[in-house]
Amino acid sequence: MTSSFYPPQRTLMGPGPSDVSPRVLGALSRPTIGHLDPQFIQLMDEIKGMLQYAFQTENELTLPVSAPGSAGMEACFVNLVSPGDKAIICANGVFGGRMKENVERCGGTAVMVDDAWGTAVSVDKVAAAFAEHPDAKLLAFVHAETSTGAVSDAAALCALAQQHNALTIVDCVTSLGGIPVEVDAWGADAVYSGTQKCLSCVPGLSPVTFSPRAVEAIRNRSHKVQSWFLDMQLVMGYWGGDSKRAYHHTAPVNALYALHESLVMLREEGLEAAFARHREHHNALVAGLEAMGLSMAVPADQRLPQLNAVNIPEGVDDTAVRAALLNDYDLEIGAGLGALAGKTWRIGLMGHACNRRNVLRCLDALESVLTAQGAAITAGVAAEAAAAA
Ligand SMILES: *Cc1c(COP(=O)(O)O)cnc(C)c1O
Repeated sequence: MTSSFYPPQRTLMGPGPSDVSPRVLGALSRPTIGHLDPQFIQLMDEIKGMLQYAFQTENELTLPVSAPGSAGMEACFVNLVSPGDKAIICANGVFGGRMKENVERCGGTAVMVDDAWGTAVSVDKVAAAFAEHPDAKLLAFVHAETSTGAVSDAAALCALAQQHNALTIVDCVTSLGGIPVEVDAWGADAVYSGTQKCLSCVPGLSPVTFSPRAVEAIRNRSHKVQSWFLDMQLVMGYWGGDSKRAYHHTAPVNALYALHESLVMLREEGLEAAFARHREHHNALVAGLEAMGLSMAVPADQRLPQLNAVNIPEGVDDTAVRAALLNDYDLEIGAGLGALAGKTWRIGLMGHACNRRNVLRCLDALESVLTAQGAAITAGVAAEAAAAA
């Protein structure tokens, strides 16, 4: 007979999921109640308020989609792209490519603005794309490219879209909770995130927020959204502001307890303190890695603190190093994706996992594993440099 599953205790320092706090895991195991129970509806309201805080927005339509980040992405596209629409899509990593897929599956045309993986989206190239395609209705880009570790200038890109009367879709899956996401200040129209990156909640939910402009565009659609589940007009009836909630689907009750707890923790710490913590440990990690002779893959002014792409040194066996970290140190780091497969490692410092102990543990484990592979590293230099930083 198959017995219960007990996962190993890992330290998650990859591209997500990140370590989940015991407080969040505890919330997950509280008794399930009905999803139309008045107490549950109060919980939904509190989640909405705390998501508005996290997104720095007053958008009424702010809620967690009951599915992972990819569903939040899809929710934004299927509601805002109609057949025949032209959308400017920025691709500087894996997720821009998925945005193109979404536009095309909605019957739209994607005008691609490509940038090298590991660099920010070029605002100038996007300006040129708008000049060439004044009929573009939408601009979509990834704020924090988890596949490469690069951050893009969301404020400048959203401002550009507004000048051209285009709506914006912004992927903030990895940015939310780790670096400033200022939905209202940017003037972003549809923004989606995920729970398993810097919110340090369990995977499987996707916080989204839509501006009044986006809601108007959704209400004025001339034909139905092709996805029933992700049709925001229907979801609004369930998560909407009025007290009368219409059944749409059964909310993942316990997962929402977990999200609520992770957002309470974010409020307790405060956004500014959370951002400062991510910066501080990122600086320490980078100092340690560089002291060990490793180099970062992304230019310093475009680096994400929560996702650190490191160049794999010549002659080092990528797979063997990651396997040794996992098997001997219970430490997960990420492999390179797509164009960067085999070239970089991705070390996450997300949410609850972003702490001093993990920085030191990671540097220490990498030092041992690389030394065993023949690298000449002076023992302890990395930890010393990290502590000094
Ligand atoms: C993780 C991630 C996604 C997808 O989220 P899932 O929860 O895996 O579906 C989308 N965009 C970015 C930038 C991500 O890092």
